[in-house]
Amino acid sequence: MYDVIVIGGGPSGLTAALYAVRSGKSVLLFEKESYGGQISKSALVENFPSQKAISGFEFSMNLYNQAKNFGCEFKKERVISALDGDIKKVITSKGEYEAKNLIFALGASPRKSGLPNEDALVGRGLSYCAHCDGNFFRKRDVAVIGGGSTALQDALYLSEICNKVYLIHRRDEFRGEKALAERVTEKGNIEILYNCTLEAAFAEPVVKSITVKNKITSQEKEIPVSGLFLAIGQIPGTADFGDILPLDENGYVVADESCKIRDGIYVCGDCRRKTLRQLTTAVADGSVAGSL
Ligand code: NAP
Repeated sequence: MYDVIVIGGGPSGLTAALYAVRSGKSVLLFEKESYGGQISKSALVENFPSQKAISGFEFSMNLYNQAKNFGCEFKKERVISALDGDIKKVITSKGEYEAKNLIFALGASPRKSGLPNEDALVGRGLSYCAHCDGNFFRKRDVAVIGGGSTALQDALYLSEICNKVYLIHRRDEFRGEKALAERVTEKGNIEILYNCTLEAAFAEPVVKSITVKNKITSQEKEIPVSGLFLAIGQIPGTADFGDILPLDENGYVVADESCKIRDGIYVCGDCRRKTLRQLTTAVADGSVAGSL
């Protein structure tokens, strides 16, 4: 039996494992795909304090090796379910494991637009994170897709860096915070296209333009842009754990900054309900949860 089992090997899970193992606990971490999660696919991380520039992959491997060198055990297995009790149980595709404490670091993944070439364009002008990648489009024209608070915040952030921002929303009213929407409408270099959907993105080999369609007039328009930011929501990886974790209406785990749900059950990282999902906030959560 382990002192701690961490479910998820993104930055928050790896940090939780590092903190727990350094405090003398036996720790096992499960990851179903790649260590580092979303950040491992990011070309360059430039906003992690004190780190000038590092590839997302290198950042992930450094963190993985750090936890491993302190004695954390790792298994590449998909966790199917988890059971609470005096002794917690984790059931994976390959077996059953026991622990005194469980830390859920399930992450979240960006909702995809459904463009046929979407995956191929990631890293070639298409991004799901304005704060991570906005700086690569300094003084260029970019488009943001979405009408929630993330899209509004992204448009405002990018408007400070880029030449022009097209904010494209499928309805005539924003879903996001009113105050943010007001600030967006006041910005001289943000052009809002309401009732418009993203139909296509062209790249050779990096993004050159997008086609949007007005739902009312059915007219299509090609807009030259260098960057395309998709902010159409996130999908937290909590679907299999609704019976053990308290989830809000969007599927995020409801827990405050203590990261504690109840004795022996903790959550950290992007799957926790919070206002800013960044590498810094993920590792902050991980250190709190791992200090259980
Ligand atoms: P969200 O609120 O779910 O908004 C997603 C937006 O994308 C909506 O406007 C939605 O359109 C649009 N959308 C969804 N699927 C689409 C598709 N296939 N094609 C085109 N558009 C699509 O997501 P979010 O903005 O990431 O926010 C997530 C949560 O975090 C929310 O609860 C939000 O309030 C919170 N948040 C808070 C802050 C803050 O500072 N307080 C900042 C960021 C996020 P419709 O409106 O038509 O559905």
